Formats: sequence, structure tokens, C-alpha cells
Amino acid sequence: KLENATARAELGRASWKVLHTMMARFPEEPTPDESTALKTYIHLFARLYPCGECARHFRALLEKFPPQVSGRNAAAGWLCFVHNQVNERLEKPAFDCNNIGDFYDCGCGEDKKEGEE
Ligand code: FAD
Repeated sequence: KLENATARAELGRASWKVLHTMMARFPEEPTPDESTALKTYIHLFARLYPCGECARHFRALLEKFPPQVSGRNAAAGWLCFVHNQVNERLEKPAFDCNNIGDFYDCGCGEDKKEGEE
């Protein structure tokens, strides 16, 4: 089957969007269970990502720069940094991680506590 760079790029954009938005909503003070869940998610993502070459490079990045899961700022900063590592390899411009603040908005308002309507 022919490679399709457009489809690969679309998959990448959609994936980064989910990942960065997830970090923007990760708790500022996560429980140990929440931190473990995020770390596990990232490693499974890297294992199962459907672009094999991308996944292989991403797994090497995770070895070099282990996921930071101690809280929202650390997690968002870490993902921004590793995305910039991918950008560099693909010769794309770096993103200024100081400006990540409200860039990723899930559009879902404030989280409700469990049991609230
Ligand atoms: P993208 O890199 O998709 O970024 C989308 C948007 O996110 C940008 O427009 C910008 O607004 C914002 N952004 C950019 N940098 C950052 C940052 N550091 N932090 C926060 N936001 C940012 N493609 C390949 O061809 N080869 C690969 O090996 C490869 N590996 C990949 C590995 C992973 C884990 C993922 C998720 C994708 C990979 N891709 C790979 C796809 C590639 O990273 C891009 O998604 C794709 O080329 C489309 O690029 P883009 O220019 O639209 O911007």
C-alpha cells in the first residue's frame, strides 16, 4: 500500500490535539492513581499508535524523556517539550511552551464532582 502523507499528518494533528487537551485538564494535584493512569496511557499510546515509524520514534523519546505526571503543569510542559522534539525531527517550527496556557480548551466547562448533575 502506498504511503499517504496527508492521512498521516491528519492523524498526527488529531492525536496531538487529544493529548495536549488531556494535559490541560489533568488535575493540578493528581492522586497517585491518576498519575499512574496518565503514565500508563502514554506508554500504551506509544505502543499502539497506528503509524509504526512514528510510534517507534515516540517510544525512543519516552525512554530519553520519561513522562512527567506529577501534576498539570509538569505534564503539559513535558508533552509540549516532546512534541517540539518531533517538530525538530520533521523540521517544523518549535512551539513556545510558555504560551500553552489556555491554548487547549476542551469546551466542556468546569468539571463536576462525582454525583453532581
Ligand atoms: P502538528 O505537529 O500536528 O501540531 C498541531 C498543532 O499543535 C500546531 O498547528 C500547533 O498549533 C500546535 N503545536 C505545535 N507544536 C506544539 C507543541 N510543542 N506543544 C503544543 N502544541 C503544539 N509524522 C511523521 O511524518 N513522522 C513521524 O515520525 C511522526 N511522529 C509522530 C509521533 C507522534 C506521537 C504523533 C502524535 C505524531 C507524529 N507525526 C509524525 C505527525 C506529526 O507530528 C504532525 O502531527 C503532522 O506532520 C502534522 O503537522 P502539523 O504541521 O499540522 O502540526
